[in-house]
Amino acid sequence: MTERVVIIGSGPAGWTAAIYTARAELNPLVIEGAVTEENRLKGTLPLGQLALTTEVENYPGFPAGDLTAYLQSALEASRVPYRDPENPPETITGPELMELMRQQALNFGARTLTDDVVQADLSQHPFVLKTLGGQEITALALIVATGARANYLGLESEERFKNKGVSACAVCDGALPRFRNKPLVVVGGGDSAMEESLFLTKFASKVYIVHRRDKLRASRIMAERALGHPKIEVKWNSVIDEILGDDEQGVTGVRIRSTVDPDRTEVLEVAGYFAAIGHTPNTDFLKGQLEMNEKGYIKWTRPGRTYTSVEGVFAAGDVADDYYRQAITAAGTGCMAGLDAERWLAAKGFE
Ligand code: NAP
Repeated sequence: MTERVVIIGSGPAGWTAAIYTARAELNPLVIEGAVTEENRLKGTLPLGQLALTTEVENYPGFPAGDLTAYLQSALEASRVPYRDPENPPETITGPELMELMRQQALNFGARTLTDDVVQADLSQHPFVLKTLGGQEITALALIVATGARANYLGLESEERFKNKGVSACAVCDGALPRFRNKPLVVVGGGDSAMEESLFLTKFASKVYIVHRRDKLRASRIMAERALGHPKIEVKWNSVIDEILGDDEQGVTGVRIRSTVDPDRTEVLEVAGYFAAIGHTPNTDFLKGQLEMNEKGYIKWTRPGRTYTSVEGVFAAGDVADDYYRQAITAAGTGCMAGLDAERWLAAKGFE
């Protein structure tokens, strides 16, 4: 069977495109990603980057309030993310928001496949997709909403200590026993670095932020929260030279180097290192098939539309946006891609 619309990706862009195309009775198939160790390490498990965050304070429609009863009524019991009854989150969390979006799409008839697309042939129509699980799927219209993943610095010592104290996701790994009551370090100066550092203060005895400049990139509200926290200390004008440790203990420290005086180094004794230095779009499986910018983000080819360089292929969310990168903008462009695909199919006579 040739699918009318296939949506690749299961973040806010993917589910919003699914809600719109399902309500348009296009019977969309959402390929939501595979649950593999490789995807866990890369941060590309189903439900995307929001599933790796804590409270989401800036998604409209969710002011502070206890959402526990609502979540229990909206979601299947097995898919309600855990909430500490003694200390419930003050608003919606990323994993909860994603489960709600997924459920909303399913309620309108969207179908899901828990698998990764590893190869795409967009040179023929219908488009042909091959999955990690060995399936071949053909589609009349495609919405790419595969998002982006966190970057690492690329140090050999980062590779060596992955899963042994090196992480790019404080929310996923921060509560592990190895990090409890120990000093930790976060590298980066953006909102992610602030968010990760603040989250880690719950467990760590101290959190260093290592930033290469003397000014943060983060939004003022996040920067002020981090800089005002008694457990956080910023090492300005510094880069990570190497992560130190051994096979038995994992990470035991980092050597940082001054960007002002490169001869000056300092060792910070830490039990964990968290990278928060930006993102790379998940477009490897589309290389050579679609126009992308120099960083690998898919190019939108018509102003104000989600069209790409291949007719019938639309892109939504962070995979095509290295500028706003917000949950709400991803959902917005997911809606646009759903409508663009629906209208394109109708215009081509594919009912
Ligand atoms: P970002 O804003 O691009 O910041 C990346 C940071 O990493 C920058 O400070 C950058 O330094 C540093 N960096 C990059 N490459 C580096 C390298 N090789 N060595 C050392 N430092 C390096 O990325 P982000 O913080 O992940 O945020 C991405 C988007 O998500 C933003 O739009 C942000 O607002 C949003 N976001 C929002 C929230 C929130 O509102 N709660 C939370 C997380 C993310 P320079 O500053 O020197 O370039």
